[in-house]
Amino acid sequence: MELTEKESKFNLIEENIKRIREKISEAEIKSGRKEGTVRFMAVTKTVEPVYINHAIEQGINLIGENKVQEFLSKKDELKLENVEKHLIGHLQSNKVRKIITQVDMIQSVDSVSVAKEIERQAELNDIDANVLIEINVGGEESKTGMDKQKFLEEFEQIAEMKRIYVKGLMTIPPICEKNSDLRKFFDEMYKLFLDIGGKNRDNVSMDILSMGMSHDFEEAVLCGSNLVRIGSAVFGPRIYNR
Ligand SMILES: *Cc1c(COP(=O)(O)O)cnc(C)c1O
Repeated sequence: MELTEKESKFNLIEENIKRIREKISEAEIKSGRKEGTVRFMAVTKTVEPVYINHAIEQGINLIGENKVQEFLSKKDELKLENVEKHLIGHLQSNKVRKIITQVDMIQSVDSVSVAKEIERQAELNDIDANVLIEINVGGEESKTGMDKQKFLEEFEQIAEMKRIYVKGLMTIPPICEKNSDLRKFFDEMYKLFLDIGGKNRDNVSMDILSMGMSHDFEEAVLCGSNLVRIGSAVFGPRIYNR
């Protein structure tokens, strides 16, 4: 019997998730950590709800979306009862109001000004906002994320905010030809993660180091990542038509 397109994509998603889980486990063991300590986020941008729900049925319990509008338009079709939702794309201050109560974490805080707006909206909604600070570790002009040079000063300002809980760091490293170059960026992030973790602040706990995507998650885990964000290796290549 011929499989429909939907059925074969379901099969593909199942196989992909299984394979990624195995690779994460191997990397955990290789890096001397316990199995199950690295969280596996499925990045669902451009993916239709039917496929996201299929991934959720395979036990995916953490999803990441990039765009506020796209997430809000798909959300009602998703089976999110036991799923954590994170915003991972660049967030403009004027969109904070729409997303703040809809996600469990904003991973992409990259300026004091967006943090201030998150603080303000969290206060208005009487909630605490969990965030990661996104760092532009490669110092690339084209990338979002906080400048490394500004990070310490801006971190201090964000750490003062009463409604914001800084739970860790996130990064997207530059595209590197050599693994050794990539590792240099991941190592730098891990060091920063430990350094900041050593500071005692009421609203700061460095629990999450979010790095590693489809093509580099094993390397990231070997360098200390404990949350990998994987899109195309789960769902196949992205088709931008939404
Ligand atoms: C799209 C995206 C990912 C996933 O990328 P893949 O290469 O498809 O795994 C991870 N993190 C962020 C911030 C993204 O925008």
